[in-house]
Amino acid sequence: MSIYLDNAATTKPCDEAVAAAVDAMTVNFGNPSSLHRAGLDAQLIVDKSRKIIADSLGTSPETIFFTSGATESNNLALRGAVAAYGKRRRKIVASAVEHASVEETLKALERNDFEVVRILPRQNGEYVADDFIAACDENTVLLTMMYINNETGAILPAGDVFNAVKRRFPEIITHSDCVQAYMKFPVRASALNADLISLSAHKIHGVKGSGALYVKKGIRVLPIMTGGRQEKGIRSGTESVPLIAAFGAAVMKLNPTINERFVRAGERKLYFEKLLSGIDGVVINSVNNSPYITNIAVMGKRSEIMLHFLESRGIYVSSGSACSKGKQSGVLEKFGISDKAADSALRISITSETTEGELDELVLALRDGIEKIRG
Ligand code: PLP
Repeated sequence: MSIYLDNAATTKPCDEAVAAAVDAMTVNFGNPSSLHRAGLDAQLIVDKSRKIIADSLGTSPETIFFTSGATESNNLALRGAVAAYGKRRRKIVASAVEHASVEETLKALERNDFEVVRILPRQNGEYVADDFIAACDENTVLLTMMYINNETGAILPAGDVFNAVKRRFPEIITHSDCVQAYMKFPVRASALNADLISLSAHKIHGVKGSGALYVKKGIRVLPIMTGGRQEKGIRSGTESVPLIAAFGAAVMKLNPTINERFVRAGERKLYFEKLLSGIDGVVINSVNNSPYITNIAVMGKRSEIMLHFLESRGIYVSSGSACSKGKQSGVLEKFGISDKAADSALRISITSETTEGELDELVLALRDGIEKIRG
């Protein structure tokens, strides 16, 4: 039996999501664009999921556009918004700790002569709204700030920042990557004051390759793909009805229990941190963070070595610094975490169903690893 503690990377699809996807592959397999009954049935499935997701954000279905995942949502949000509004206003303000799908898109926009101002957390690793407000001006077209950081679980004050910035500069488009917050925190489009919100299905027990972009009514986003003009022309391509059905089913299941799951995850995190405090050489890397993510450093033991040691005990976690093909993102350092701690960082990401017994096993294995792995 394995212990899966890597839920920020992906989650197991819930039974409801799997059943909905299977139905849309075996029974209701039509193309939503087809004019016959099979097409209409598929369209009804897409509409149902759109309504469920819209309700969960406190918005209306016309504001939800389905994509292939949050990477596409982030690309569409940033590229689509600056294509619509960035002819004269050429400055973008962003947090310096965004996921690669935002950060790499920002780099591409810099190559297209946009100026990107990246805001670092303060020395204590926390973000302050004033730093964003100070960076925005009449030349700013877009402000992008994630809600929960995927590596540390840090909670960024996106709502405070967007509200404050919109008071001074109502024309600035606000975008939030809410992938690690959605269905864990109550994400409401109006409270967040976001014009654009990116979501991913596979982080919330849906299926990989599926996501959505919320686009506030009245806000324009130009398409980044051309084709059959599905999704009101914003996202061409035949809708992935099975994955969209699964996305809706997962949200329908999770949305009513956000608060109780949040409390339960918080209790598990406290329990875990208490256990960790008894181990010499283990440092908790994040403060003010999501109950679902804990980033630790096992000082002197390289992340990958410890990760594979834990794997040999049937326990799955991530190396704490998101890396692609061995290249670290550098986000931990931006939060003020030392290079040494970043080298030995592990990310443990739980669900509300994670048990104390599973965390006990992890801590036992960590203790064992500290003893057995040479520095
Ligand atoms: N944004 C954040 C914060 C994430 O954690 C991820 C997934 O790792 C993504 C975006 C990309 O999501 P997807 O896998 O749906 O493209």
